[in-house]
Amino acid sequence: MGAGLPATRTQRHEPMPETEILPANETGLARAAELLRSGRLVAFPTETVYGLGADATDGTAVARIFEAKGRPRFNPLIVHVPDVASARRIAHFDSTAERLADAFWPGALTLVLPLKPSAGIAPLTTADLPSIALRLPDHPLARDLLRRVARPVAAPSANPSGRISPTSAHHVLSGLNGKIDAVLDGGTCPVGLESTIVATQPRPTLLRPGGLPAEAVEACLGARLGVAGSEITAPGQLASHYAPNARLRLDANAANPGEALLGFGPVEADLNLSPTGDLVEAAANLFHHLHTLDARHPGAIAVSPVPDRGLGRAINDRLRRAAAPRAG
Ligand code: AMP
Ligand code: MG
Repeated sequence: MGAGLPATRTQRHEPMPETEILPANETGLARAAELLRSGRLVAFPTETVYGLGADATDGTAVARIFEAKGRPRFNPLIVHVPDVASARRIAHFDSTAERLADAFWPGALTLVLPLKPSAGIAPLTTADLPSIALRLPDHPLARDLLRRVARPVAAPSANPSGRISPTSAHHVLSGLNGKIDAVLDGGTCPVGLESTIVATQPRPTLLRPGGLPAEAVEACLGARLGVAGSEITAPGQLASHYAPNARLRLDANAANPGEALLGFGPVEADLNLSPTGDLVEAAANLFHHLHTLDARHPGAIAVSPVPDRGLGRAINDRLRRAAAPRAG
C-alpha cells in the first residue's frame, strides 16, 4: 500500500467473532446449516475445493461473500444444490443440459443455464445475468449440508481474491480467519481443482477448464465444445451485460430536474442504497434499485458518491460500467 493513500478500512457492521471450526459430524453440520440459513458465511468442503457458502436467495449474505474475499468486482457465483430436482426449480434444462447432468452430476461440472426468475435467486448472485451457474457437488458432507440448508447456496472458492483456492480447512483459515463465520472441516478435497464450467446456450461452450476434462464432456455430447472468448459469451463480457436504459450520472450531490436520485448515506433520494452508509447493504440493493428506478423512465439516474473502499470498489466498478457510453 503506497504512503499517502487513505487506509482501506473494513466495513462497519456487526463485528465478526473468531471463525468457528466445525467438525464433520451431526453437531457441526447442524450448526453450519443454521448459520447459512441465518444469512451467515460458512466455508465447506466439496470434491473440487473448499467453497465459501452463503444463501443464494439472500442478497446481503451474498454481498458478504464479496466483502470477505475482497473481490473488486461482482462476478457471477456458482450456486450449489443437493439434487437435480433442486436444480430444475432454479434453471431451464435443455436437452444438452439434461444429457450432461445425467452423465456428470454429482461431480466437477458446472452448468450455465437460463435462470428461472421464480427461483428467488438474489440478483447479486448472478451479477444480474439472466443465466445461472449450477453445480451438484460429489462430496457427502457438501450434499448433507445442502440438504439441511434447503436453499440454493452460492459458493466461490473460499480464499481471498487473487490467492490460490483452498483444499483444506487450514488453507481456508489462513486466508479468511476472522472474516467468515465458520468452516466445516472435512479434510482434504480429493480433486483439488475448480469445476469445469460449460454453458449450453446458444451452443455448448467451455467457459473454464477444470476438474472434469473437456474431452469427457465432448465425448458425451459427440461434438466439440465452443471456446469462450471466441464469441460474445465469454464470462467477462457477460458480466457487463446489464446497463439501465436511463443514463447514469455518477458522484452526484443532488438530482437535476428530470433525474431520479439513487442515494447512498443520509441524503433525500428516490431510492437509497443504504441510508446508514453500509456498503454490504448497498451491494445487496444495487441491481434491484437500478432496475426499479430505470422502470420509472427518468431522464437520467443521478447516483450519490460511494466510497471507493471495501465493497464500494465493486459497487463503483459496476456503476462506472453501467454509466459508460454505449453504441446505438
Ligand atoms: P468461482 O465461483 O470463483 O469458482 O467462479 C465462477 C465463475 O463462473 C465466474 O468466474 C464466471 O466466469 C462463471 N459464471 C458463473 N455464473 C455465470 C453465468 N451466469 N454466466 C456465465 N459465467 C458464469
Ligand atoms: Mg476462485
